Amino acid sequence: MHKAIQILGGCCSSGFVSHRWKPHTGSGLPFVSISAKPLSSSLSRLPSNSSLLAMSSARLSSRFGAFRSRAGHSESNPVGASSSSSSSSVAVQASGSVLKINFCQWCGGPTKHEIPEGEEKIRAICTVCGKITYQNPKMVVGCLIEHDNKVLLCKRKIQPSYGLWTLPAGYMEIGESAAEGAIRETWEEATADVEIVSPFAQLDIPRIGQTYIIFLAKLKKPHFAPGPESSECQLFALDDIPFNSLAFSSMLVTLNLYVEDVKAGRFKFHYGTINKRPGTSPSDIHAFTLDGHLQS
Ligand SMILES: [Zn+2]
Repeated sequence: MHKAIQILGGCCSSGFVSHRWKPHTGSGLPFVSISAKPLSSSLSRLPSNSSLLAMSSARLSSRFGAFRSRAGHSESNPVGASSSSSSSSVAVQASGSVLKINFCQWCGGPTKHEIPEGEEKIRAICTVCGKITYQNPKMVVGCLIEHDNKVLLCKRKIQPSYGLWTLPAGYMEIGESAAEGAIRETWEEATADVEIVSPFAQLDIPRIGQTYIIFLAKLKKPHFAPGPESSECQLFALDDIPFNSLAFSSMLVTLNLYVEDVKAGRFKFHYGTINKRPGTSPSDIHAFTLDGHLQS
């Protein structure tokens, strides 16, 4: 991730422009605080992996409450991790990213937690085979589908965020591209066969170790229906998007940026970092800042 940010930083001088992000004014988002700080300052405020690792698992559980991971997954999926049909599905804002690993993923031996020689972060090191289990961010991929000047949203039939609306999205699988994953998740959650139009947003959420890649897409056929993790799928006109009933901060940001771009008459590619405000509930999707927003 560090390397990626350095690369993007290099882009700033050649095409990307920093932009002060404003929420969709018609959506009633009084708690969204916005900033456009340099990436370096955003990063310096983040807890380090080692400090998070040092937390006991009990403390992590309590901190992230309802968003505790299931079966080793984290939060998010816009359409959760409970269904066998979508082991890849994400839960968008749980703890997930940095969990205390007590056993080696290679041999099952007990681990110790130390900073390996030549590294800077505490890692889970196997006391039997010596291998290190690294934890890295997960990719969440999804589609923002436009049809007849409306966008397709799914109402979640699973926790977390049961009953709230989201774009179809979920964890990317090994062996597929981000675009392929977004198409697959859209089929699983909205039974919609879509064609990717363009990349629209990459949103990092360092606190929970997730990166979202959302594509603009269109329906190949004018058909959609709820998949097993959705209770409803519906096209919304821009003025009717249920901003007060969205499931995740990432979707709130994505849809706000989309509405802004539609009103401006031009779609851009957006990059930014969603930093949850310390001490706020993971379920409070308005308690964040969007830092380092770049747009092409
Ligand atoms: Zn081992």
